[in-house]
Amino acid sequence: RTAARAVDLAKIYGTGDTKVVALGGVTVEFTAGRYTAIMGPSGSGKSTLMHCMAALDSSTSGQVFIGDTELSELDDRELTRLRRDKIGFIFQAFNLVPTLTARENITLPLDIAGRDIDKDWFDTVIATVGLADRLGHKPNQLSGGQQQRVACARALVSQPEIIFADEPTGNLDSRSGTEVLSFLRRSVREFGQTIVMVTHDPNAAAYSDRVLFLADGRIVDEMTDPTAEKVL
Ligand code: ADP
Ligand code: ADP
Repeated sequence: RTAARAVDLAKIYGTGDTKVVALGGVTVEFTAGRYTAIMGPSGSGKSTLMHCMAALDSSTSGQVFIGDTELSELDDRELTRLRRDKIGFIFQAFNLVPTLTARENITLPLDIAGRDIDKDWFDTVIATVGLADRLGHKPNQLSGGQQQRVACARALVSQPEIIFADEPTGNLDSRSGTEVLSFLRRSVREFGQTIVMVTHDPNAAAYSDRVLFLADGRIVDEMTDPTAEKVL
């Protein structure tokens, strides 16, 4: 099954002298239950690809499907609902609400949507991410690694079709980074989650099943079952 795919996806910024082809026609498929890393030099289009796939940014041409739904067929309200129900996000900067506890941050998207929280699933996610004794803490009472694990739990708790992670370990020391990457890996293995992760770090990419390499807005190479040595 395909969790998400892009067909000839292009994104052009500006016009004339300031025109930048951020994506030059990308076709890619993200199979359900697989973990994909996206690598490439700064400016190669990694963020743009992820933002267009995640319905955070519109493309210039081409198509994006989340499950069977093509994004351009949706109006703004339907797009908001799709982002909320079908997509999980993990950002480099954690993006937690500072005044809320870990538990409240994790359930916030479901609370806003008025959706019930499946208690067994919530407990499973919390146990897997190792936060059971931190649920009452505010973000400033948590380490960077713990904050990112809260963000991971928040992304996972709504059981999204796909999770997009933008440099999830970029602000973390290597030990905290490893904890976050191990959790993402287990989410794929144990829960069948689909993950797409942008990273600069070959050690992080090695946790994935497949690495896509971008250059100048195109996929130029692909590797399955990566190791850090192979990615370098
Ligand atoms: P990466 O994530 O690989 O660093 P980006 O997707 O951020 O690459 O950027 C791809 C290209 O698009 C770069 O040349 C960048 O300068 C350009 N770009 C990205 N966002 C914008 C924007 N909002 N306006 C103009 N150019 C942009
Ligand atoms: P990264 O390489 O970590 O993706 P960037 O510096 O490429 O970070 O982009 C950070 C943000 O700035 C992105 O949201 C991108 O859309 C925006 N951006 C990047 N390049 C440009 C640009 N030339 N003009 C306007 N916005 C840009």
